[in-house]
Amino acid sequence: MPTLREIVNRNVKEGDLYEKLDRNRVRCYACGHCCPIPEGQPGVCKVRFNEGGTLYVPWGYVGGVQCDPIEKKPFFHAYPGALAYSFGMLGCDLHCGYCQNWVTSQALRDPSAISSPLRADPEKLVQDALRQGAKVLVSTYNEPLITSEWAVAVFKAAKSAGLLTAFVSNGNGTPQVLEYLRPWIDLYKVDLKSFSDRHYHELGGRIGPILDTIRRLHVMGIWMELVTLLIPGFNDSADELKKLAAFVADVSPDIPWHVTAFHKDYKMSDPENTRPEDLMHAVEIAKAAGLRYVYAGNLPGMVEGHENTYCHRCHELLVRRYSYLIEEYRISPDGRCPTCNTAIPGRWSTRFDGQITDRPFLPRRSSHLVTIS
Ligand code: SF4
Repeated sequence: MPTLREIVNRNVKEGDLYEKLDRNRVRCYACGHCCPIPEGQPGVCKVRFNEGGTLYVPWGYVGGVQCDPIEKKPFFHAYPGALAYSFGMLGCDLHCGYCQNWVTSQALRDPSAISSPLRADPEKLVQDALRQGAKVLVSTYNEPLITSEWAVAVFKAAKSAGLLTAFVSNGNGTPQVLEYLRPWIDLYKVDLKSFSDRHYHELGGRIGPILDTIRRLHVMGIWMELVTLLIPGFNDSADELKKLAAFVADVSPDIPWHVTAFHKDYKMSDPENTRPEDLMHAVEIAKAAGLRYVYAGNLPGMVEGHENTYCHRCHELLVRRYSYLIEEYRISPDGRCPTCNTAIPGRWSTRFDGQITDRPFLPRRSSHLVTIS
């Protein structure tokens, strides 16, 4: 049986996002690390590597697939009720101790993260998505920026079939990768983990490229929502939250910000789980900073209506939710408040057709997704 490293190293093609340097070195631009990679070595992400002065990148497999409501990503202002077909590969450019997708993201760093990649083909993934009734294809589970060439191949097939596309990402991008994605991507969720460079160093990154990515995505007109997992004692100080909220409001007060509850996971088991009052405190700070659409997540029914969408002008209820479930939908076909006619920021369908929450998808029974051996 080949090792996971052998499988990953075999399922590659030459990357697009790099330049050749002297002495057979290359520089990769797929994420904010911009690794200079000597011959024979991988980058920080462990899945892109230099062989003979050529950068090889992951190709032709998925680490997992699943089809579920777009609200789970979470996107609350993009095609509510739509089914999102999610796929991921392996590896990440960060190493967060609380990662909820660590089995795929840390597969090549952590021997206890055991993953079996499945052979995949862009057209067949799209056929699966269509068969499931999906409207959006989402690259997620690992950090999608580091596997952007594969994501673009899948997104091109998705676009030809009339589907929308999205990234669920840590936002550690570069100008080059964002321009590369721009023609093929509709929605982008950035996980803004903290507003402290010191905290980002602990997770293996820097805050600068992430803030730059958020600014660029907004200027590019790609619909973006932000998520911050609120971890007691790590990123929940009033000072840090005020700075974070002020930054987002300065980019645009219309960007939805989801502040979600932490529960003990992976290597981070010291902090207490986030309480409803912690989320409410963050919501108050964000509202005071001028953010118009702030959501409290992961504690359904415990956050005093902060799972709902209200018109920022007249405060009319527009979408009532319990967790990711939509219980009432009142946005007009042209994306406006039905009471005061204010345009609600987001990407709206002309009709809300209800929400499908019961699509089981069993990849190992699928006709084409088979384990690579
Ligand atoms: S994706 Fe990021 S971590 Fe991986 S090789 Fe490229 S620059 Fe380095």
